[in-house]
Amino acid sequence: MLTESHFYFNKAADVLGLSDKVRTILLTPHRTVKVGIAIEGEDGKLQSYEGYRVQHNLARGPMKGGLRYHPAMDEDHAAALANLMTWKTAVVDVPFGGAKGGINCDPHVLSERDLFQITVRFVEQMKEVIGPTTDIPAPDVNTNAKVMGWIMHEYSKYAGFSPGVVTGKPLDLFGSEGREAATGRGVMDVLAEVLAEQGKSFEGITVAVQGFGNVGNNAARLIAERGAKIVAVADHTGGVCRDSGLDVPALINWVSEQGGVAGFSGGDAFDGAEIVTWDADVFIPAALEDAITKNNAADVRASIIVEGANGPTTPEAHEILCDRNVLIIPDILANAGGVTVSYFEWAQNIQQFRWDEERVNQELDKKMSKAYRSVREVSSEHGIDMRTAAFVLAIRRVGKAALARIHVNTKLPF
Ligand code: NAD
Repeated sequence: MLTESHFYFNKAADVLGLSDKVRTILLTPHRTVKVGIAIEGEDGKLQSYEGYRVQHNLARGPMKGGLRYHPAMDEDHAAALANLMTWKTAVVDVPFGGAKGGINCDPHVLSERDLFQITVRFVEQMKEVIGPTTDIPAPDVNTNAKVMGWIMHEYSKYAGFSPGVVTGKPLDLFGSEGREAATGRGVMDVLAEVLAEQGKSFEGITVAVQGFGNVGNNAARLIAERGAKIVAVADHTGGVCRDSGLDVPALINWVSEQGGVAGFSGGDAFDGAEIVTWDADVFIPAALEDAITKNNAADVRASIIVEGANGPTTPEAHEILCDRNVLIIPDILANAGGVTVSYFEWAQNIQQFRWDEERVNQELDKKMSKAYRSVREVSSEHGIDMRTAAFVLAIRRVGKAALARIHVNTKLPF
C-alpha cells in the first residue's frame, strides 16, 4: 500500500513538473514510532501487540489521522495512510498535517476490559509524541468515541485537561455534534455534487455499499433519506440485497444488535465479495483497502465510485476504471468529512465553545462542496481524473507551506 499512495503522488507530481528534491521533501515521513504493548488479559494470559504512529507531514498544522485496531495493522499500513492524511487535510483546506496509527489487535475477540488496558498502554508509550498541538488521533476501523474518551482521559493524566488531544470523542466528553456521521455525510455531499453536475437526482439512482460501519451506514442512511435506493450492502459477515431498496434504519438496528448484516430478513443474502461488481449506478467502498483490484475492475458495473474507505482502489484498478470512463471520487476528497468535523471539534475544544448540530452540518456541507469544486476545477484545467486532480491541489498547498518553512535551494513550479 505504501507504493500505492506514492504512485498517485508521483502521477500528480509529474503533472506539476515537481523536482525530485521537492518530491523527497514531501514524501519523507516526519516521524515513525513503534511501541510494544503487553497486558495480562482477563483470562490471565499475557497478550502482546505492536502499536504504531506515523507522523507524515506537519507543514500545514498539527498532524491528524485515525487510529486503527486491526490484526493487519503494521508500519507500512500506518505510513501509507499517514501519507494520505497529509493530502486529505490539504484538499479540504483544514489547518492540519497528516498522521495515522493503530495497534495490531483484533477487538472482535477482545473483552472491553482488555481493549481498555491495551489503549491505556498505547497512550502511556505515545504520550510524548501526541498532543493538541502535535498530533491528534481520531477513530478509524474498529475504534470509536469510547476509545477516544479513554485516550483523552489517559493523556490528560499526564498533560492536564486536554480535550483537544483526540477528536471523535463522546458528546458528553467534549465531542462535537455531527462528528459521528460526518464522514458518511461528506460522502453524501460529494455524491450530491456529482449528481447535480450530471443533471441527476438522488431519487433516480441505485447504490451498493461495501462496509456498514461508521462510514458505510451513515452514508447509506443519508443517501437513502434523500430518495436513492440502497440495493445492496456487504460487510465482513456477508451481503444483503433488495432491488426495491433496503430499509436502511432497520438494517442499522440489526447490525448494532447482531454485529453484521448476515441474517437480516429484509433482503436476500449473497456472497459479500460480489458487492464490488453489483448492478447499481453508484458503488461506495467503505470497508478496507484494495477492494477494487485489477481482477475485478473490468467487471465493475457502477458508473460512479465514491471512495468512503481509504485506499479501496489499487493503482491498476484505478487505470482500468478511468479507461472505462467510470467516475471515481477519490478517498482524499470523498471521505474527508470526518477530518473536517474533527477540525471543528478541535477548534471548539481549544476555545471551550460549542456549535449545534445544524451549524456543524452546514459548515461541513460548505467545506465538502467547495473542496469538490476546487478538485473539479483542477481536473478540467489539466484534463486529468479527479484523483490526480485532488493530489495536484493538495501538493500545491502542502508544497508551498513546506518550502516556506525551510531553506532549500529549489523552486516550486507553481
Ligand atoms: P468501522 O470499523 O466502523 O467499519 C468497517 C466496516 O467494514 C464494517 O462494516 C466491517 O464489517 C466492514 N468490513 C471489514 N472487512 C470487510 C471485508 N473483508 N469485506 C466487506 N466488509 C468488510 O470502520 P469505519 O470507520 O467505517 O472505516 C471504514 C473505512 O473508512 C476505512 O477505510 C477507514 O480508514 C475509512 N475512513 C473512516 C473515517 C471515519 O471517520 N470513521 C474517516 C475517513 C476514512
